[in-house]
Parts: sequence; C-alpha cells; structure tokens
Amino acid sequence: MSRIYNFSAGPSMLPEAVLKRAADEMLDCNGSGQSVMEMSHRSKEYQAIIDECESLLREVLSIPDNYKVLFLQGGASSQFAMIPLNLMKKNKKIDLVLTGQWAKKAKSEAEKYGEVNVVASSADKTFSYIPKLDPSTFSKDADYFYICLNNTIYGTHFDTLPDTGDIPLVADVSSCILSEPMDISKFGLLFAGAQKNMGPAGLTVVIIREDLIQGVDPTTPTMFDYKIHADNGSMYNTPPTYAIYICKLVLEWLKNDIGGIEKMYELNQKKAKILYDFLDQSKLFKGTVEPGSRSLMNVPFVTGDEELDKKFIKESIERGFANLKGHRTVGGMRASIYNAMPIEGVEALVAFMKEFEEKNTK
Ligand SMILES: *Cc1c(COP(=O)(O)O)cnc(C)c1O
Repeated sequence: MSRIYNFSAGPSMLPEAVLKRAADEMLDCNGSGQSVMEMSHRSKEYQAIIDECESLLREVLSIPDNYKVLFLQGGASSQFAMIPLNLMKKNKKIDLVLTGQWAKKAKSEAEKYGEVNVVASSADKTFSYIPKLDPSTFSKDADYFYICLNNTIYGTHFDTLPDTGDIPLVADVSSCILSEPMDISKFGLLFAGAQKNMGPAGLTVVIIREDLIQGVDPTTPTMFDYKIHADNGSMYNTPPTYAIYICKLVLEWLKNDIGGIEKMYELNQKKAKILYDFLDQSKLFKGTVEPGSRSLMNVPFVTGDEELDKKFIKESIERGFANLKGHRTVGGMRASIYNAMPIEGVEALVAFMKEFEEKNTK
C-alpha cells in the first residue's frame, strides 16, 4: 500500500492513526459487536460517542459553558441561510466583510432576509488580501457582523478579529477550525463543515452563544431552527453518526498524539513557513497572497506562465502529490496543508518544487 500526499482543499487528508483506528473498529466498535454505522443513534453506545466528541471539542477549543455545540448536516453552505434565519431578526440588517467566494455566498443568502452592509472588500485584487477595517463604517444596529476567518480558495486569513463591541461576531471557520487557538468568547457563532480539518463530509459543527438561540419565525422549517437542535442535543433527527465518530477520533489524535491546540498551531506555523520561505525566494514560483494576510492552511501560488503551471500540476501528480491544481476561479496552484498533512509532505513538496524550478529556469 502506498499513500499519496493529498493537498486537496476538502475533503482532505485525515490522520493515518485515525484511519487505522477506524479500520480496527469497523466490525466491532468497543465490544458492541457492530460498526458505528450500524448503531442506533438512540443507543447508549452511540450516546457515549457523541458525548465524548462534544466534550473533546470543548476541551481542545476551550469552549465556554455558555456556548452550545451543535452537530448538524447540510454543510457549511446551509449555515449561510440558517444563520440569517435565526439571527437576522431584530433590525434585519448585518455587516459583512467580503473576502471571497464563501463570504459572497453567505452574503447572497443573507440578502434574501434583509440588508447586508459590506464594510470592506478585497474584490479589487482577486481577494488576495484581508482588507483594513474602519470601525466608523460598522453599523450600530446590525444584528450581527459576518466574516469568513480563513478564505480557503484565496488563501487569506484574518490575523486580528474586528472589534464589534456588543454586535455578535459570526465566523465561517470551515478551513481553519482546530488549526489554531481561538478565543471563542469573542464570537457569537462559529461554524464549520467538517471535511477540512475535523473529519469526513456530512457533518457541520456550530458553536453558538446560548443567548443567541431564540427560536425562529414559525414559517421556518423545523430543521433550520437552532433551538430545536440545541434542545434535543443534536438528536432531533438522526445526526451524521459515523462522521461524528470520526471527528471524535480526530479530536483524540489532536489531544493525545499532537498534544493539544497550541502544539497543533506550532506545527502548522512550521509547515506553512517551509512553503512560504521557499516561495519568497523562488525565481520561478510566487505566492499570490500579500504577507500579513497569509493562511496557514491554504497556500496558493503561480509560476506566472499558465503552460508551466499545467506542466507542474501534471508532473506533481506523477510524483504522488494530489490535488495541487488551484481553484477554477483563481488558476495556478494551491497547496492545502491542513492539520493532517505531515511536515514530511510539505518538505517533499518543496523539494519537488526546487527540482522543477531548476529544470525550468534558464
Ligand atoms: C468548504 C467551505 C465551505 C463550503 O462547505 P460545504 O460543507 O461544502 O457547504 C464554506 N466555507 C468555507 C470557508 C469553506 O472552506
């Protein structure tokens, strides 16, 4: 068996230890005589799994007690609608920072329910930076303030959070959750599709401050009401049971094998530095993101020559590096180096890039 280095933006690599453990437990999980996939979600065996997953997530991210953790379905994209349905109620107005496609999608959904004030945008330079924010442009009466903390497609990341005062800060953390310590108390709501850093696709995690859970307009579908899910411990209907189980294994790996979120962050900084340092001195490759806005998780880069980009991608696949092609809206290359990407994978990629550079520069 040989495993590739997978630089996919999502679904993405999972830690090998997690996959092995899941394989070991496939036919008989914890003496239950069944796979987790076959368990009733109402059984005590399964309740122990979801409880442990929540408790590990609370521990790893230091989630304060006045926040609920919800395990939902529908992907991060469903949250683009679920958030305004639940939180855009008082003044039907929000502030939003436009930093890319995912923020744009969140904006379009929110506009179905009220007014969206774009306080800043980086659309002028293909979202290659995080715009400076001027608090005097923030609405005093916004129901919440929305950001996408890590922009998966463009490879940008907010290094400081906007100071929104009493206005709840809502953040899409799909591609950076568990990669760095976060002060959860600075947010009203955080959400993430699991398939980047938490587990397999099919699970969406929402962390929400309790006072923001108030129930929705009666015409809203039941499944889109945070209160229903919070009151039922994410068991109003069948939750994505196997994805939650894998998420639990990922959290165990992060806590026990890695040593916690600070250690994970150190490792992620080290991995990203290897790649950015190479890009900054390369004669052929160039990072597309302004220093100061760079993501630790998604690193887009180009050669400046589309034909050479194509050649690089083709040769990279032959060498066992998968999914380095950039997003279709950006072109070039992108290396997603999530938590599960070992440092050896980044070192091997940089070695290959050096070799390619030598062969393709005069
Ligand atoms: C991947 C991603 C999404 C979309 O997630 P789905 O689960 O496919 O809906 C949204 N936001 C960000 C930041 C992402 O990286």
